[in-house]
Amino acid sequence: MTYFGKTQNKPHVVCVPFPAQGHINPMLKLAKLLHFKGGFHVTFVNTEYNHKRLLKSRGPNSLNGLSSFRFETIPDGLSESDAEATQDVPSLCDSTRKTCLPHFKKLISKLNNCIDIPPVTGIVSDGIMSFALEAAEEVNVPVVLFWTNSACGFMCYLQFRQLIEKGLTPLKDSSYVTNGYLETTIDWVPGIKEIRLKDFPSFIRTTDPNDVMIDFVLWECERALKASAIILNTFDALEQDVLQAFSSINNLPPVYSIGPLNFLFKEVTDKELNSIGSNLWKEERECLKWLEGKEPNTVVYVNFGSIAVMTNDQLIEFAWGLANSKKTFLWVIRSDLITGENAVLPLEFLEETKNRGLLSSWCPQEEVLDHSAIGVFLTHSGWNSTLESVCSGVPMICWPFFSEQHTNCRFSCHEWGIGLEIEQAKRDKIEGIVRELMDGEKGKDMNEKALKFKELAIEAASGPYGSSFVNLDNIFHVLS
Ligand code: UDP
Repeated sequence: MTYFGKTQNKPHVVCVPFPAQGHINPMLKLAKLLHFKGGFHVTFVNTEYNHKRLLKSRGPNSLNGLSSFRFETIPDGLSESDAEATQDVPSLCDSTRKTCLPHFKKLISKLNNCIDIPPVTGIVSDGIMSFALEAAEEVNVPVVLFWTNSACGFMCYLQFRQLIEKGLTPLKDSSYVTNGYLETTIDWVPGIKEIRLKDFPSFIRTTDPNDVMIDFVLWECERALKASAIILNTFDALEQDVLQAFSSINNLPPVYSIGPLNFLFKEVTDKELNSIGSNLWKEERECLKWLEGKEPNTVVYVNFGSIAVMTNDQLIEFAWGLANSKKTFLWVIRSDLITGENAVLPLEFLEETKNRGLLSSWCPQEEVLDHSAIGVFLTHSGWNSTLESVCSGVPMICWPFFSEQHTNCRFSCHEWGIGLEIEQAKRDKIEGIVRELMDGEKGKDMNEKALKFKELAIEAASGPYGSSFVNLDNIFHVLS
């Protein structure tokens, strides 16, 4: 297709996610909304490494795109073997920050010099891929930064400078992780009445004054001030206080809640567009069949997302916790879940649970959570997983692993009342919490609350007056 006359004026947005599953998923949903609903020509930019992975997991033609929804790639700066260590987030952050800008600039210039593509009118860049700001400055187009975490998580990141100035991080020595220091309560974070240091993103738990992640967070938060707008995949009724409090932060651009994208995205009915997927792992759909016929709210769904890793000992504690609870479970064990080795589960466990447990390596999570059989989600509290659970009205058992998962866990359990935290991966504790949520009074109460939040999420995403629905329209205007 060529763009002459009016179509030459079609707005063109370039979407660039951080190269991790939890960032690509919401960015792709937003990109499809921009195309389907906003009428944008879309260029979606993956890293070369992830592009290859997507082709492998989804098939060689899966990223051909449509004439006005195209894929491009830039390098992430890591060698193939480094990039394979998907859990090495600090290396990936450091490398994208140092590598991507010149490649991205070149790409924008190429797009602007293509006669059959409309000129770029705006960029949606991941909040932690802010190099896009420099590229945008050169061609004078707006950048909307998409922080794909929760509002509470983003707010906590914005406090890192103050935490350092007040001497709260870096820690004096490593004993501070366990000596009760992290229980210290903070009452000066805008929009958050009280929060313990242990609920802050885990990067504060360092003793190194030159820590790569602290430096990275400071850098990206400072650059957030230069964007035309910031968007978050959340909704007002869930994170009202924090969302309102962003306006009290000096020089921060307007922050818009545009979630849950899972619900807004339901408007996208184009089959061809919807056939474009973003799973980096090969999806096993058999579990959906297995869930069929199971009684409502009887299955424990266990999944720790795309980055979390654990030791085999912890895996075994989870296994026996689940087995001893006597509940039916669907447990997704990623091929790289165990640090440096393959997961090994005891034969007795496999034998004992063979009629009520299903193991899988990667599943269609949103569909699984939406299945009536799922009663509770044992999660690492990644933001997408948390929001997907809210969208399905499913209460959570939280075992946060790193980053702002600790903040999400705190909010799930204490602000929203839809989760219970596992503080220690010990079989008795796990068994007890599973039983409490599946059979106990607390479980009933949390289930009701989770269903209420689901209703509020639907409202936020519904036109014409839902808060996120309206905010998304505003973003279309910023980018046109
Ligand atoms: N996911 C999935 N199948 C799986 C595991 C994860 O589709 O078996 C998706 C999940 O639905 C979510 C994303 O991967 O959208 C994980 O993002 P999240 O923020 O929860 O955690 P992260 O992987 O970034 O730690």
